Order: sequence, then structure tokens, then C-alpha cells
Amino acid sequence: MADAPHNCVIIGSGPAGYTAAIYAARANMAPVMFTGKEPGGQLMITNDVENYPGYPDGIMGPEMMENFKKQAERFGTDIRYEMITQVDLGGEVKKIWTESGTEIHAHSVIISTGASAKWLGLESEQRLMNKGVSACAVCDGFFFRGQEVIIVGAGDTAAEEATYLSKLCSKVHMLVRRDEMRASKIMQKRVMDAENIEIHWNTETLEVLGTDEVTGARVINNITKEESEISGAAFFVAIGHKPNTGIFDGWLDMEDSGYLITKPDSTKTNIDGVFASGDAQDHVYRQAVTAAGTGCMAALDAERYLTAKEII
Ligand code: NDP
Repeated sequence: MADAPHNCVIIGSGPAGYTAAIYAARANMAPVMFTGKEPGGQLMITNDVENYPGYPDGIMGPEMMENFKKQAERFGTDIRYEMITQVDLGGEVKKIWTESGTEIHAHSVIISTGASAKWLGLESEQRLMNKGVSACAVCDGFFFRGQEVIIVGAGDTAAEEATYLSKLCSKVHMLVRRDEMRASKIMQKRVMDAENIEIHWNTETLEVLGTDEVTGARVINNITKEESEISGAAFFVAIGHKPNTGIFDGWLDMEDSGYLITKPDSTKTNIDGVFASGDAQDHVYRQAVTAAGTGCMAALDAERYLTAKEII
């Protein structure tokens, strides 16, 4: 049998989840956070974070998340290092199950389960992660300014990131696996107009090259089957993200791509008392600072919900 319902359960522990926890704890909501299997979220696989306001000298991603955690704990957040594997959001009291089978009840739920970058799945890509392999040009492009870099992908993200990199780097090699790009016409035009972006059509990556840091990529033209090497100090993977929202399927409205849909100007989902924040509901901005912002919004929305129900 589950304990009495918690006022607020937060699922996920990236910038959105911890910010929600800080606000909820300071509002006497006694939040319980379930960290998931990657405590700290995507910033744990980032090196320097230089674009989060308030850190003029930058900060390492893992250190930043440790600070977020300490701040959430300071106000009494109950942090549990467990994964949520099942939910029943149908009733007034929401039911949640951990991977060990514990049933948790909650009056309100804040979802901040984030998204995971998709990777090519190469051994070399994994080995050189954070040593030049990155899934975030906006985070890491600056470290390769003035250098030649490689980016894989042909959607809006890849086009946007290639354009972003072209303003920082001496040359951008864009590897496109087909003979056309999926990106919108306007984004494609920006790529075509940039003089220092070279598009390699019909090109797939066989291996990211480098021992301690990325030096380039070995690629194959999938029409001619010709193999070649391209130099680059960084290898950006921009082949899409997958929101971690599978457990909410059937309960919450989501886009075909799995991103949760929230009501305009709020973090409210289609179910009263369930709020969504961070990358689980945002495929446009996807920044730590925007995730933190929506985490704050979710806690304020949850507080208003609990107050209106006279639960707190
Ligand atoms: P998409 O799913 O739209 O595109 C992924 C791209 O990666 C495709 O070109 C795909 O190739 C390619 N790809 C996938 N797997 C591989 C692989 N194994 N090897 C090589 N290439 C691969 O993802 P995005 O992140 O680009 O965009 C997601 C959503 O967000 C879209 O709806 C997009 O419009 C939106 N968005 C909007 C922006 C804006 O409006 N400013 C900015 C960024 C995103 P293929 O085409 O061959 O399948």
C-alpha cells in the first residue's frame, strides 16, 4: 500500500526538475524528486557551460548540476535515485511506480524527464564523447572557433547548428546521408549561402577519427561506395532528439515526435495537476536556462493548483 499522497512529485533531475524542486520546496510543497537513470540529465555529459547567466567564468556541466542539487536539498527536497517506469494519471490522486515496484501517490506531478540526443551508434563516437564529439553546437561550438569542424544531419537542427558554427569556425563539413535535406527551405538556404559550409551529399560516417581528441572522420559515399577522410577538430551529431516521454503515452497529449503538449503560456498538460517542463515539452529552445525557466513555471503552476484545491 502506498504512503499518503505527496503534494508534488517531480520526475527527472535536469535543470527543469531541480528548478521546479527549488521553487516547490521553498513554497512548502515538500516535493519528492525521482532522478531517473541519468541524474543531472544532459548537462552531465557536457564540459564547460559558458552560456548560463551568473557564471562569468563558465562552469563544468556536472558541477553545475551538483550545485542545482545542493540548492534543491537545502530547502528540503526529498531526492530519490530511482527511475519511474509506470504512471496512472487518471484519478484525482496520481499513481506512480518506481522500477523497484514501489507505488507512490501524488496530488500533483511535474514532468521534467528531458530528451536524449540521438547518436550514430559508432564505437569511436562513444569513445570520443566530450573530446570533440558533441550533440550541441550552441554549447560546444565556441571551443572550436577558427577551426574546421564536421556536423552530421540534415534536419532543421543540423541546418541551424551548421549555420551557427559557420560564424565561429573556419570551415564546416556537413554530412548529409541522402541527396537532399529534410530541413525547411529557409534553413537550407542559410546553409547554402554560407561560403564556408561544404555539404557532402550521400555521405555516411564510418568512424570518428582521433585518439585523445577528434581529428576528423572516415566517411563513405553511399552511391559510389568511395571512402575518404575529412579533417575536423570536432564532430557534431545533429540527427534529432528523442523526448523521454514514453511512460506518459496514452495519458498525456503529445506530438507525433513524443514532445508533451502544454497549454499556451503555462506548463499545464491535458490532465489537471500534471505539469510538463524542460526538454520533454520543448523541441525549439532546448537550453539549460530555458529548461530552468519552465521548471520554475511548473512549480508555480503546481502551487496554484494545490492552493485552489486547498491541499496546501
Ligand atoms: P529531424 O528528425 O527533423 O532530422 C534529423 C536529421 O538527421 C534528418 O535529416 C535525418 O536524415 C538525419 N539522420 C537521422 N539519423 C541519421 C543517421 N544515422 N545518419 C545520418 N543522418 C541521420 O530532427 P531535428 O532535430 O533536425 O528537428 C526536430 C524537430 O524540431 C523538427 O520538427 C524541426 O523542424 C524542429 N526544429 C525547428 C527549428 C526551428 O524552427 N528553428 C530548429 C530545430 C529544430 P534523413 O533526412 O535522411 O532522414
